[in-house]
Amino acid sequence: VTELLAAQSNLSYRQLPLRLYQVTRKFRDEPKPRLGLLRSREFHMKDMYTFDASAEAARRSYELICDAYGRLFQALGLRVVQVRADTGSIGGTVSHEFQLPADVGEDRLALCPAGHFAANVETMSAEQAACPTCGEPLTRTRGIEVGHTFYLGTKYSSVFNANFYTPENKLQLAEMGCYGLGITRILAAAVEVLSTEDSIRWPSLIAPYQVCFIPPKKGSREEKGAALLERLYDDVAEAAPQLAGDLVLDDRTQLTIGKRLKDANRLGYPYVIVAGKKACDDPAMFEVWSQNAGEVTFLTREGVIDLLSKVQVS
Ligand SMILES: [Zn+2]
Repeated sequence: VTELLAAQSNLSYRQLPLRLYQVTRKFRDEPKPRLGLLRSREFHMKDMYTFDASAEAARRSYELICDAYGRLFQALGLRVVQVRADTGSIGGTVSHEFQLPADVGEDRLALCPAGHFAANVETMSAEQAACPTCGEPLTRTRGIEVGHTFYLGTKYSSVFNANFYTPENKLQLAEMGCYGLGITRILAAAVEVLSTEDSIRWPSLIAPYQVCFIPPKKGSREEKGAALLERLYDDVAEAAPQLAGDLVLDDRTQLTIGKRLKDANRLGYPYVIVAGKKACDDPAMFEVWSQNAGEVTFLTREGVIDLLSKVQVS
C-alpha cells in the first residue's frame, strides 16, 4: 500500500489524511493451526493504512481508530480490552492490541482491576506487579488477540518515499499508521467466549440468522399450532423488515420439537420461537427462547411481534 501511495507523484497535503482499507483473505504458513478458526492457515483480515501530514495529525488518526475499534467490540457485546503491545517485527513507536480475555488465548495480559493499566505481559519488566496509577496488584489473564494497531511514524514512508507536497510546496514524508482486525478470529473468539456447553451463542449483530420458528410435529396433538406459527412468521416478517433474510422456519415437521430445538441451540439463533402445547390455548402462547439472555418465556402473538420488531441487526 505504501508503494502504491509513493507511486502517486503529486500527492498534496490537501489530500491528507488518507485512509486506505484492504479487506482480504490471507494465507499464512501456520506451523501449529489450532482451535478451529482461532489460528488457521487461511483467514479474513481487515487492514487499514493511514497517511497524515504531521505526527500530531497521525496521533489523532491513531486515537480515532482505536476508539472506533472499541465501539465495534462494544456493539458486538464483547469485553475486549485495549492493551499496550510490543511493536514486534512491524516496528513503529506505539502499538496496542485488542484482546478478548479467554482461557484458550495465547497471549498473557496484566490488567489493573480499576482499568488504569492494561498491557501484554511481553511489554513489561518481570518485577512490575502493581498498577503504576493506583498501586493495586495487577490481575493476570490470558487473551485472544482480535485487533492490532501500530503508530509507524515515517519508518515505511522513508523506505518507499511516500511523500506529499506541503503548503510551501516542499516534499515531506507522510506519517503512517497501520491497523488490523482479524475478522475470522473475531467470529471464532466470540463463539468461544459466549457459548455454553450445549449451545452456540453469537453476538446478535453477526449471528447468521436471528430467529428460528419451530412448528409442532406432524400428526401430534398440538398440530393445529402450525398454522398459527406460520401466520406469526409472516406477521414478524412484515412488522420487522430489518429481519428480512434473518428468519428461519424449521419445517422438518417429521421431527419432534425437542430434536429441532436441540439443533437450533447448536446453530445459535439468538431467538427461537416454538409452537408447543400452549399454542393451542386461547389466546395462543408461544415459547420464546432468548438464547443470549439464557431465558425462556411465554408470549402472545403480539408479545412476540413486539419483542422481535425491536431487534437490531446493524
Ligand atoms: Zn490502577
